[in-house]
Amino acid sequence: MTRYSAFSLLTKALGGHAGWGRAWRDPAPKPAYDVIIIGGGGHGLASAYYLAKVHGITNVAVLEKGPIGLGNTGRNTTIVRSNYLLPENNHFYEWSLKLWEGLEQDLNFNVMMSQRGVLNLFHSDAQRNAAARRGNSMRLIGVDAELLDREQVRAMAPMLDFDNARFPVMGGLLQRRGGTARHDAVAWGFARAADALGVDVIQHCEVTGIRREGDRVTGVETTRGPIAAAKIGMAVAGNTSRVAAMAGLNLPIESHVLQAFVTEGLKPLVDTVITFGAGHFYISQSDKGGLVFGGDLDGYNSYAQRGTLQMVEHVFAAGVAMMPCLSRLRVLRQWGGVMDMTMDGSPLICRTPLAGLYLNGGWCYGGFKATPGSGWCFAHTIANDAPHRLNATMTIERFRDGRLMDERGVGAWPWAQ
Ligand SMILES: Cc1cc2nc3c(=O)[nH]c(=O)nc-3n(C[C@H](O)[C@H](O)[C@H](O)COP(=O)(O)OP(=O)(O)OC[C@H]3O[C@@H](n4cnc5c(N)ncnc54)[C@H](O)[C@@H]3O)c2cc1C
Repeated sequence: MTRYSAFSLLTKALGGHAGWGRAWRDPAPKPAYDVIIIGGGGHGLASAYYLAKVHGITNVAVLEKGPIGLGNTGRNTTIVRSNYLLPENNHFYEWSLKLWEGLEQDLNFNVMMSQRGVLNLFHSDAQRNAAARRGNSMRLIGVDAELLDREQVRAMAPMLDFDNARFPVMGGLLQRRGGTARHDAVAWGFARAADALGVDVIQHCEVTGIRREGDRVTGVETTRGPIAAAKIGMAVAGNTSRVAAMAGLNLPIESHVLQAFVTEGLKPLVDTVITFGAGHFYISQSDKGGLVFGGDLDGYNSYAQRGTLQMVEHVFAAGVAMMPCLSRLRVLRQWGGVMDMTMDGSPLICRTPLAGLYLNGGWCYGGFKATPGSGWCFAHTIANDAPHRLNATMTIERFRDGRLMDERGVGAWPWAQ
């Protein structure tokens, strides 16, 4: 692997930028691996990377039905934060944020991690209390959180409509270490680093079946032939139910569409990530100047990566209520992604009832920020056949046992859609 550095950039520039090698190999699938990861999104690639790097398991294949990173990893609004309320989520997402903070050095790849802050607005006394409680919960375990009053928010974001008759801005909860990262670069960075450690990243290889002997998995059927493995990890996001069904599993998961939007490029306008607590709307500005935003889920279950016009209107209405100047902008791009939603909005990183089959999914709105932490914990679970302490509660059994991780603010509530 060519190591990226100022020196390599300079020497390649002097040579007219000829001679940059492939970032990762394009291997044909081998007949057997120690571990197969299904899904070449950020989570699958991060899992493979940490399996190789932390656990020394390098005979690993990541099987991706298309090109890597074109799933939700390359379709999200790029928000990274660890401002959760429940201790289980809070510890997990904080570890993920710590990994984000060192990711570029670790992967030797620019994922454009930008800690520009995440500001959640509140509009009522009740919402202020909830924000204070969340902030206190974060600070109790050493995560940064600041409760801002109206004037402190105004100093950061003067373009907001503070006196909106329905949703006056009364203040906000700020996590300064939160921010954004370049979504598809995360997939590329993990792919390149995993490849350098010997992992086979195999694109255009769809898994069409899971082979079993009794209650143990033995391999997969793919569009490029059968591949054997004693351990198989699923990290397929919105396709979790479909792939799990190949192994005969019925999971507490639904798939929903969420849309994202990008405007024409502007001079700097939005310095942080801002979320509108009243209307479920979130916005940031990309390094190229486009405003990137999104809002509620489309109101029905679907596998179409498109979205409905009805939701376009709904999201824009919330945006303009929060920031009236948005109404003057042209939206250049829009797309949808398919997310797997658990019934309590918290994720699953766990073993399944089948020996050798492991599940990573149910990320709902929040999986991008989880990418490194999720890969770290999933790799640990697969390598040791037991969870890491950070994902010990992220099991399927919690739905059977009634130990839900019912976290408001993860944006799930599929029952309310
Ligand atoms: C519009 C939108 C905005 C979002 N905004 C944010 C945000 O701001 N912050 C945040 O934290 N999260 C956000 N999310 C959620 C986040 O994007 C996802 O939770 C996360 O990217 C999931 O990563 P993944 O690697 O699990 O999934 P993906 O990147 O979707 O990867 C799964 C891969 O599995 C592959 N696959 C599926 N079936 C098969 C098969 N049978 N065989 C082989 N391969 C298969 C798919 O092609 C896909 O590439 C958003 C999501 C959307 C859609």
